[in-house]
Amino acid sequence: MDVRDPGCLFCRIVSGEVPSDRVYEDDLVIGFRDVAPRAPTHVLVIPRRHIPDAHALADEDAALVARCFAALRRIADDEGLEGGYRIVTNVGPDSGQTVFHLHFHLLGGRQLGWPPG
Ligand code: 5GP
Ligand code: ZN
Repeated sequence: MDVRDPGCLFCRIVSGEVPSDRVYEDDLVIGFRDVAPRAPTHVLVIPRRHIPDAHALADEDAALVARCFAALRRIADDEGLEGGYRIVTNVGPDSGQTVFHLHFHLLGGRQLGWPPG
């Protein structure tokens, strides 16, 4: 199983080789602000370990996924998103995924349209 992919932008963010505005970190996941925010709060939560997308998750990753959602909840509280927010993960080119390291977008701070494009 890949731990780190040297060609992967988000692996380089995990290692600190590429700078990011981190808002959360623990032993399994980190959260940092999206460089091109689509909402007043736009944070990406990613596992430290390289996993290409949600479709590549295995049963053994259950604790890791739970940790991602715990981080998302903590960040939403810290950002004061009492009115609600959205968690999105794109899978594959048809979804618009551009970085192939699993990430959950946390979007909030404005009224969000539905359905997404
Ligand atoms: P995707 O389109 O794969 O679901 O989301 C990738 C996200 O990563 C995009 O929202 C994009 O703005 C963000 N992104 C791309 N490169 C960087 C970067 O170097 N730093 C940060 N903080 N975000 C990035
Ligand atoms: Zn990666």
